[in-house]
Amino acid sequence: MSDTKIKGYGEDVFSEDAIKACLPKQVAAKLLATMREGKPLDPSIADAVASGMKDWAIAKGATHFTHWFQPLTGGTAEKHDAFLEPTGPAQAVQRFSGKNLIGGETDASSFPSGGLRSTFEARGYTAWDPTSPAFVKRHANGATLCIPTAFCSFTGDTLDMKTPLLRSLQALTRAVERLMAKFGQPKAHVAVTLGAEQEYFLVDRSFYLERPDLLQTGRTVFGAAPAKHQQLEDHYFGAIKPRVLKFMSEVEQRLWQLGIPAKTRHNEVAPAQFELAPMFEDLNLAVDHNMMIMEVLRQTAESNGLVCLLHEKPFEGVNGSGKHCNWSVAYGGRNLLTPGDNPRENAIFLTMLLSVIRAIDKHADILRMTTAGAGNDHRLGANEAPPAIISIFLGDELNAVIDSIESGTRGTKGGERGRKLRVGVDTLPVLPKDTTDRNRTSPFAFTGNKFEFRAPGSSQNCAQSQMALNTIVAESVDAICDKLEAMKGDFNENLQKLLQRLVKAHRRVVFSGDGYSADWPKEAAKRGLPNLRDTPAALEPLRDPANIALFEKYGVLSATEMRSRWEIGHEDYLRRVRIEASVALEIARSMVRPVVADEFSRLANALGQAKADGLKYGVRGLTALSSKLGAGLDDLHVKCDRLEKALAHSRYDAQLKAMEDLRRTVDRLEGLVDDSRWPMPKYREMLFVY
Ligand code: ADP
Ligand code: MG
Repeated sequence: MSDTKIKGYGEDVFSEDAIKACLPKQVAAKLLATMREGKPLDPSIADAVASGMKDWAIAKGATHFTHWFQPLTGGTAEKHDAFLEPTGPAQAVQRFSGKNLIGGETDASSFPSGGLRSTFEARGYTAWDPTSPAFVKRHANGATLCIPTAFCSFTGDTLDMKTPLLRSLQALTRAVERLMAKFGQPKAHVAVTLGAEQEYFLVDRSFYLERPDLLQTGRTVFGAAPAKHQQLEDHYFGAIKPRVLKFMSEVEQRLWQLGIPAKTRHNEVAPAQFELAPMFEDLNLAVDHNMMIMEVLRQTAESNGLVCLLHEKPFEGVNGSGKHCNWSVAYGGRNLLTPGDNPRENAIFLTMLLSVIRAIDKHADILRMTTAGAGNDHRLGANEAPPAIISIFLGDELNAVIDSIESGTRGTKGGERGRKLRVGVDTLPVLPKDTTDRNRTSPFAFTGNKFEFRAPGSSQNCAQSQMALNTIVAESVDAICDKLEAMKGDFNENLQKLLQRLVKAHRRVVFSGDGYSADWPKEAAKRGLPNLRDTPAALEPLRDPANIALFEKYGVLSATEMRSRWEIGHEDYLRRVRIEASVALEIARSMVRPVVADEFSRLANALGQAKADGLKYGVRGLTALSSKLGAGLDDLHVKCDRLEKALAHSRYDAQLKAMEDLRRTVDRLEGLVDDSRWPMPKYREMLFVY
């Protein structure tokens, strides 16, 4: 076998190779060490690094640089400054100093802070995160050097997604190191990894421009179900249409230049829905890469006459889009979530597995909180979406292992009934690597050597859920270490007892059944599992004193930072609902109603004429049609007024209800009005014509 190098892969990244090529040897070595250890940059080499980085970027066409950060809006932010330094009248040079590289000051007043920053102290600070390499973003007329940074306020409170993520990585690293020491493992590097599968829809740009709802909210607030949507299940993994394939390969070429390992592409379940999955990477880098993937998807769609919809539920009645976050932890290069081939490795695996199970059971509310958002409500929790209960799917083989730990016997599989599974002494039965996605309804599934968190929405920054997952697992690992330290006697026996207790206490969160069935919420309630239905409910865990104490203990978020996140989440939700309701009202009144009224008046006139002329045929049909349409028109009038009132006086839930009622009316009318007059592209066009 001989490999072929991919030309141009990573060429727009200030990678290890670029660093070695562009910086003096000693500076390069120091910088690379800093990057590996995740430490702040030594100021004495900052100028040299900046200067080399600038020359590298200029060679790629860069004229500007920006600190690139991830504010709490959920997107990314950049403010460009030219490499420009006037040196005299009509003279200037390109300059980029170490100071420019390490930190920046920016006006933060227009970024959400949830009350953290008073307007008179509106400065925000960005600081380079050397664990994520700088890169160059190209545009038609040049390029911009982007420096991944953290973003905080004047008072040092975080205003971004990255800082708490980095803190949570530290917390989990420490906890895992502590646990590994208990197992007598030599000190080694802890790597937390993420592979984020990105789902999205594509629609033709000309349709998009005719849909004010898509334009303004990212989803359709009206649209009757077409006769055929996803019933035939013929889209999933189907042959990819040439126009889409052209788009996909352009996306991949761009991502590869940026060193983003885009690996898998395929049609998803819903028509016009697709998925891109990169190879997993170091968590912090994978988060940055996912943000870039979303941007490249959007931009490439545009240049192909398409629009990429990253909203969680752009179309009612067909599947929504998620971002499956595949997470695992490795120690010294060995994945701790892979069952090993010796008893010690298996004991470590089982301990990690139960740490996660305990974490999810104790802190399901926290994990659910990280997926809150107006768009994702349509995918889980509210309305017709599957319930927002966080449970774990393990698969038959692991369930049997858990059973045997709980009962102190080996499971009934493999004819070894009654034999005790001795943790740290016996080997585990071979677990098949799950490649078939056996339970797609589970929000948190063990898939062979990693956990796949499926609840995050397609538009969400995965930093949020990952920082929570790291923190709650760190807490679990620490709790297990505490217990082990308090126990006297044989380590393996103690571990066995402890794991047995953990299974007993936390297996209620393990659920293998159909998470979408109507019985599950009842069953989950019996088990005492939380079901936080909508965003306001899902944000409440941010105000829970026990949760605040947990995040403070691990130095991931302070009480103030949590409070500010609650406020931002809440406000964002209320604003989005209001925008959607306003757009719905506007479309219904100014686009739908005139068409319906017009058609009604044509029919009514025709009916009057037919009657006056004493026609034998047609009167019956015209009577039926015009009364249907007339009733629809009246209904439309009433529903619009109700929505208007709800917007003026009511809470978000009344607005949602009034919007939903209006939708039913408009969608019925869509089936009655002359197709050539309907004012917007229909589902059957948007979902199938591309
Ligand atoms: P499946 O389709 O069974 O979920 P894939 O191998 O296709 O499995 O992986 C889906 C995503 O999970 C990819 O992004 C992949 O890189 C990632 N992944 C695979 N192994 C790991 C791991 N150990 N840690 C984190 N992510 C992983
Ligand atoms: Mg998938």
